[in-house]
Amino acid sequence: MTAKFKNGCGKIRQNNRTKMTGMQPGTFKKAFEQLKDALRGPIHRARKGNYERLHQLKDLQQIVHQAIEPLELPQEPVSTLLHLADLFDRSRDEERVANLELIVALLRAKQKWVPAQASDGQSVPWREWVDESLGQLKGVGPATAQKLHQSGFHSMGDLLLCFPRTHILWEHRETFETLQAGECVVVCGEVVHAKVRFGRGRRYEVLLQDDTGRKLTLVFFQFQKKAMESRFTPGAAVTVAGEIQSFNHRMQMAHPKSAGGHVPHRFSGLTPVYSERGLLKKESISRFIGLAVAALPEGLKDPLPPAILRDFSFLPITESLRLIHQPHFESGASLNNLEQPRERFMFTELLCAQLALCRLQEQREHQNSPAVTTEGLKPKPQDIFPFALTQAQHRALNDVLGDMARSSPMGRLLQGDVGSGKTAVAAAACYAVVQCGMQCAVMAPTEVLAEQHRRSFERFFQATGIRVALLTSSTKTATRKKVLAEIHSGAIQVLVGTQSLLNVALTFKKLGLTVVDEQHRFGVAQRARLRAQGLKSEEKHYPHFLAMTATPIPRSLALTLYGDLELSVIDELPPGRKPVETRLWEGDAEQKIADALQEVHQRKEKAFIIYPLIEESEKMDLSNAVSGFEKLRESIPQIEFGLLHGRMSAKDKELTINAFAEGQTQVLVSTTVVEVGVDVPEATLMVIMNAERFGLSQLHQLRGRVGRSPRKSHCLLVANAKSKSGKAARRLQVLTQTNNGFLIAAEDLNIRGPGDFLGTRQAGLPSFAFADPIRDAELLNAARQWAKTILKTDPELRKPEHQDLVSLMKNLQMEQLALSDAG
Ligand code: ADP
Ligand code: MG
Repeated sequence: MTAKFKNGCGKIRQNNRTKMTGMQPGTFKKAFEQLKDALRGPIHRARKGNYERLHQLKDLQQIVHQAIEPLELPQEPVSTLLHLADLFDRSRDEERVANLELIVALLRAKQKWVPAQASDGQSVPWREWVDESLGQLKGVGPATAQKLHQSGFHSMGDLLLCFPRTHILWEHRETFETLQAGECVVVCGEVVHAKVRFGRGRRYEVLLQDDTGRKLTLVFFQFQKKAMESRFTPGAAVTVAGEIQSFNHRMQMAHPKSAGGHVPHRFSGLTPVYSERGLLKKESISRFIGLAVAALPEGLKDPLPPAILRDFSFLPITESLRLIHQPHFESGASLNNLEQPRERFMFTELLCAQLALCRLQEQREHQNSPAVTTEGLKPKPQDIFPFALTQAQHRALNDVLGDMARSSPMGRLLQGDVGSGKTAVAAAACYAVVQCGMQCAVMAPTEVLAEQHRRSFERFFQATGIRVALLTSSTKTATRKKVLAEIHSGAIQVLVGTQSLLNVALTFKKLGLTVVDEQHRFGVAQRARLRAQGLKSEEKHYPHFLAMTATPIPRSLALTLYGDLELSVIDELPPGRKPVETRLWEGDAEQKIADALQEVHQRKEKAFIIYPLIEESEKMDLSNAVSGFEKLRESIPQIEFGLLHGRMSAKDKELTINAFAEGQTQVLVSTTVVEVGVDVPEATLMVIMNAERFGLSQLHQLRGRVGRSPRKSHCLLVANAKSKSGKAARRLQVLTQTNNGFLIAAEDLNIRGPGDFLGTRQAGLPSFAFADPIRDAELLNAARQWAKTILKTDPELRKPEHQDLVSLMKNLQMEQLALSDAG
């Protein structure tokens, strides 16, 4: 090998000459003309005809680089121009045309290259800038703007604050010696041979050799033979970039990017990777964001308040945005380059989330609610039950009654393990509210659970004369009409339902309390609407709000999820409960299950058998439950079985559950529709089939359906040993070892990480690009303090100096975390 393999040849340098300071417009003007002259030829040739010779324009970034090297130009358009040229080199066909046109547009935008005043110290307000419509971007016409709109990008700010999913560091390696599978690298080599190969699909293979004689195979499954032959002629030097794979003990790269000669700088460095969004592919998103970054004006004002900037030493906003979106122009780029901008945006994300949540809390302070008094009430709220409340239930109820005695709305989250008796606390609260002449809405995530709540409430309220009704999406029209009318007149005091309560034209006479059970089960938007008093009342006041959840989570995560709510914890189970004994059975367990069911039958108790049901493969899994049901019915005729699954009509579900609760059936074969909340105290056996397919918290919830009485209960996890992963084995092991919901949640969080643990989208954890509420707990606390400080002087965020923050919240989509009343 020759000296061709020299290190770092032609590396792009960013030098100080290109800085704006002290430059005169005149100097720029001349340089700009020279730049245009240098690029005119190649660009013109590529655009001629209908881009017929577009493919002949190669290494555009190199051409641009050579052109600007001797010139003095403002840093910003230069950086964008290089970026676009780079994208051009990397892209194909339509993308190529689009990129080239953007370059042409940029070269025509004289004002960018020759600013009227080099730097007049004037600052551009952040908000004014980011609220600019996308049509302002060069190269974005009405059609493109429309496409961007449809994908959720409405303003410049939406683009700028759409952060990459990750960054890849493309590292240049001198030789092939250290290459490892999974690495993204740039290497140079000499082509040994290149040919079309057959067998297991047609492919093009290139064998590359470094100057120590080590080999690397490149494979292309889609290719144009001519193009391949001209790039990979034996003996030629090439630069390739791609992910290393190990195939048959050989290192290979599939579909690498490539360039002729030794130009490692062309590909090395950091590249952001965006997620697809709406109609837009990653590459297009990258391009549009590139445009928005390019358009950043000099002297853009920082959107964070000066006091915060004094407290933290963040990189300036423009620089931070450039580093995150276009890190590859930095010489010697490494992941460290991202640390500083990441910190700024981590904080920004946390601050915006806390502003949204604390604002909601603050707003409550200023709202009016009818005070609920329990003085002289008979019986007292805690005395309406056939049992005595536990100490923990008493404490929680006192918290709730204390809040409701005030004249601003309560916002409280009740957290307690499955079976700890949250429903009773909610019922006592409803009782107090109704006795003060107001109504209550109780919302559950599933129809099964809503129906059950109606039954529990009716039982608790038996002697009180309180009327309870159920309203779900499957309530018949006639009934619905009647219920709506009686809610309006006040004849019904407690309305139980699913989220469909939010979608009907429902007006209460005087709504005093909204209760949401299994709050984590509701989607972000629904939670926000619930909290923002989505249920209307004829009287102009705000109802109190009580949420319940069985998912215990660390404090920092709770602050992010429920930062606007006060917390009460029920850390005690009703007396006499024996821990559920959990066993793991692997392989064929049919006979053992039959035996266990017989025993339950003889003791006159009840059992659940759960089959997995996952949304995407509902059909397949459904047949599991159905065929399981058929088989069992045949083999154990003396037992009455019930069948329950999500495809049944609401009426059938209700009938099935009632039959089980009342004893007509002893064994309920079901899918996970019984997962949350179903309460049938005589049930003492829970069999979970294919237990390896369930998540830890889900298994705990399912197990929570038994052990609800002083009788001894069992849970049998039937797992398929073959399909069991390491993680699944760990989950099942944890479950057999403990009944403690807090330990289980901690372990689940550990195994899955916060996003998966809560099911980010479902649970309403904001989709942070950088922040992690658990890892960054300290920063989160700081952000919360700042949010509170800001809201203290400006509770509605109306002051002009806070409008930049409002803009940030919008762009980061934190508003939906907690819709304000206006929203
Ligand atoms: P969860 O917290 O899982 O929603 P539930 O409210 O469904 O729990 O209560 C579980 C069961 O325990 C119900 O049957 C309920 O009637 C009963 N229960 C609740 N509190 C007590 C208590 N203090 N003493 C005895 N049983 C209780
Ligand atoms: Mg419950």
